[in-house]
Amino acid sequence: MKFDLHTIPFFVYKVELSMVNIVYNCKNKDVYFCKIKQYSMDLELVFAKYKEQTIQGRYITLDHIEPILHRLNTNNQLQIIGKSVQGKSIYSYQIGSGPIKILLWSQMHGDESSTTKASFDCFNFFEGNSNEAELFLKKFTLLWIPMLNPDGAKLYTRENANSIDLNRDSQDLSQPESQVLRSVFNSFKPDFCFNLHDQRTIYSVGQTNKPATLSFLAPAYNQEREINSSRLKAINLIAGINEVLQKYIPGQIGRFDDSFNFNCVGDTFQFFGVPTVLFEGGHYQNDYDREMTRKFLFFSMITAFKLIYENDIVDNRIDKYLNISQNNPVFCDLLYKNIKINYDGKEKIINFASQYKEEIIDGKIVFNAYIVQIDALDCLFGHYEYDAKGALYSDEYGNLPRLDQPANFFLGNFQFENGLIKS
Ligand SMILES: [Zn+2]
Repeated sequence: MKFDLHTIPFFVYKVELSMVNIVYNCKNKDVYFCKIKQYSMDLELVFAKYKEQTIQGRYITLDHIEPILHRLNTNNQLQIIGKSVQGKSIYSYQIGSGPIKILLWSQMHGDESSTTKASFDCFNFFEGNSNEAELFLKKFTLLWIPMLNPDGAKLYTRENANSIDLNRDSQDLSQPESQVLRSVFNSFKPDFCFNLHDQRTIYSVGQTNKPATLSFLAPAYNQEREINSSRLKAINLIAGINEVLQKYIPGQIGRFDDSFNFNCVGDTFQFFGVPTVLFEGGHYQNDYDREMTRKFLFFSMITAFKLIYENDIVDNRIDKYLNISQNNPVFCDLLYKNIKINYDGKEKIINFASQYKEEIIDGKIVFNAYIVQIDALDCLFGHYEYDAKGALYSDEYGNLPRLDQPANFFLGNFQFENGLIKS
């Protein structure tokens, strides 16, 4: 086996036992191979090279991805596997010819687009003819549904056009999108499933003030939340992803609650005995467009492929998995502390919080801040925090913040517009 040093697959030294021997016995023999041991894939470089530049931000619809899918469709990778409620095409993108079959679906919830962006970054990686990609494609057959809910994507809603949450429809299968996913699952017979989602900005990791930029779950397959061999594979995979991703986002990876819900797709597929991993993209500091999150999702997926490729999922890593702190809903977007108000003729010091609503205006997602909590707050931390140090609240109506009003007000002499100090 001969390699150019710059194109040596990062996992070769673990895959080929004979190569491992060469690496370990190389001191006086072959300096060239000695270096293999230190070679590892630079995920940052790989992402920079393969990032799909034509899509960004939160609003990703079928109109955005169809041209890319057609561009990538060089060898019949693309199929229309069904239609949405409103008759939009649901596509699958199939690549690779290997024995391990992985089924992935994104944007089952229409307003959760980060994993869709990362999926296209992965497609470019797989189409990029690198040695790593070619080895993966010999080992895997990947069937990818990049947008399961195109109607919800257009409407920017979690639900489909019938206002049904597809991730609560896995028993009823009442919706065409649910039926498409189930029929692909039945015919493809995957060895692994990746269930790709976004989560809200409200989650911290455990008791910390760090946002859950990524969260994972190996869904339960029964009420007792027992661990069988297939769930263990998902658990080990997540433990491995976490280990790698901690280097990039230390302390910002959470674990989702694993209460069993048979109406959720992940729980159902796990019940059918297929190791299923839930990926959730969340908030990264100052990244409401989720472009950093997209990158870390790409890192996670590539890492997951690498771990499966290396069969590095056979240990028992339950402890490492359980050591990942659980998601904790204690963040708000904007938190204002020590505000003086006039209430019933008395002065009082309070805190209040605002939250962004993502609203479609002229075909674009706009983040509009509304006051959502006053005084007795559920949130402990804000992604943005402001200490008014006793400054008086005022707005065009008076000296009291009111729930659900747009976050436009004064704190002392500072004017806040859409939640932030007006510059
Ligand atoms: Zn979701």
